Amino acid sequence: MGRCLHLDKHGRPCTREAEPDADLCAVHGNPLPARQPLTAAVVRKIIFRLAAAILLLTFLVQGYLFLKAVLGMG
Ligand SMILES: [Zn+2]
Repeated sequence: MGRCLHLDKHGRPCTREAEPDADLCAVHGNPLPARQPLTAAVVRKIIFRLAAAILLLTFLVQGYLFLKAVLGMG
């Protein structure tokens, strides 16, 4: 068992012991931190879809009101 090979954002090595068959400790070998950007990407995707749906609805309402006004005049 050696030291964990993970470096933090300041370039300092991790002080924990590595897992028996890995180069990283239990904290840095864990796939859980990689799930955070995925969740953020999913949330961003949902927000973009919601914004696109609102824009589409706005255009549809404007088209409906335009047609209603044109047909009402005729
Ligand atoms: Zn580590």
